Amino acid sequence: TSVTEGNISQTEKFGANNYHPLPIVISEAEGVWVSDPEGNKYMDMLAAYSAVNQGHRHPKIIDALKEQADRVTLTSRAFHNDQLGPWYEKICQLSGKDMALPMNTGAEAVETAIKTARRWAYDVKGVQDGQAEIIACNGNFHGRTMTAVSLSSEAEYQRGFGPMLPGIKHVPFGDIEALEAAITPNTAAFLIEPIQGEAGILIPPKGFLKAASELCKKHNVLFIADEIQAGLCRTGKMFACDWEEVEPDMYVLGKALGGGVFPISCVVANEDILGVFNPGSHGSTFGGNPMACAVSIASLEVLEDEKLADNSIELGNYFMEELRKIEHPSIKEVRGRGLFIGVELHEEARPYCEQLKKLGLLCKETHDTVIRFAPPLVIKKEEIDWALERIKKVFNS
Ligand code: PLP
Repeated sequence: TSVTEGNISQTEKFGANNYHPLPIVISEAEGVWVSDPEGNKYMDMLAAYSAVNQGHRHPKIIDALKEQADRVTLTSRAFHNDQLGPWYEKICQLSGKDMALPMNTGAEAVETAIKTARRWAYDVKGVQDGQAEIIACNGNFHGRTMTAVSLSSEAEYQRGFGPMLPGIKHVPFGDIEALEAAITPNTAAFLIEPIQGEAGILIPPKGFLKAASELCKKHNVLFIADEIQAGLCRTGKMFACDWEEVEPDMYVLGKALGGGVFPISCVVANEDILGVFNPGSHGSTFGGNPMACAVSIASLEVLEDEKLADNSIELGNYFMEELRKIEHPSIKEVRGRGLFIGVELHEEARPYCEQLKKLGLLCKETHDTVIRFAPPLVIKKEEIDWALERIKKVFNS
């Protein structure tokens, strides 16, 4: 048996069965390219669900990792470390907010956002204890912890895991009247992905984010943007909310915040909101560790220095234009912003992803009928053309 087959059978034998990966083992990667133990090369059009916006093993980020590994890796927050201060300043300057709170994974940052919103509701807004409500959107994806699955509207994400967290309401994604109707004096926050990623790259109707943020302001409700997947240049702007010039009360960030090299997530907001925390009220052993902070500073600098937002818009527009030229009865819609693209089919997307893999292109179906194309943002036009050739081949065969 090959190394690939050996790895897959080990994984299937010893691993919990909570994923359904394509049958490829990646053992090396650089930029937009990955290879398997047998030396076959593939283009990565998923970028680890947008965690690798800067490309695999970006040299500047790897240097930051190595340098930090030679100095200190973990202090816990019992002590200060010399990377945390500079990271705080960097993320606050980038987001235009007063304060940040670092965690490790996206789901933990979502947990942090919900804890912030609830405490803010009690301590600042004056909601009666235990009554705070959060409004989330149908079809959302905020992660897999109990809070995140409680926020979900998907029965399958919740099945067998009850009881769910109380105090959560749902509205259809992009429905401003429903949002207004759902707000009560007890509403702490409205939580939204500015573009729904896992739901199939769904873009809300034009003007919705703006109207929703104004509605939240009017009713003293926090507008929280989960930009874990859509943020950090993925859609062609630093934040997906920038498309409507909306400044949310809080950003929730993760994934590309660590350049695909080290996990780090956070929430950022102004002091009147994040100021609700006091020592002992929240934290994480690894949150704000020097490895994550050093890697994150380098990751953010790469996004800015290499103008990856501009590359995302330019090549995203080109990619979508070319995808729309493919005439095939199974293609229902090509949609996206920047290099955050969904091709919705009238049938299952998985067999197309399997065919593309055979031709050297790695992508993954989302919500059964959507093929997601979200390559590292360092991709070049020739590489998009290389991908398009293969995509056309699959649709024409
Ligand atoms: N929020 C959004 C919008 C996401 O896309 C994801 C992951 O796909 C998460 C939260 C959860 O992040 P993590 O998997 O790091 O917990």
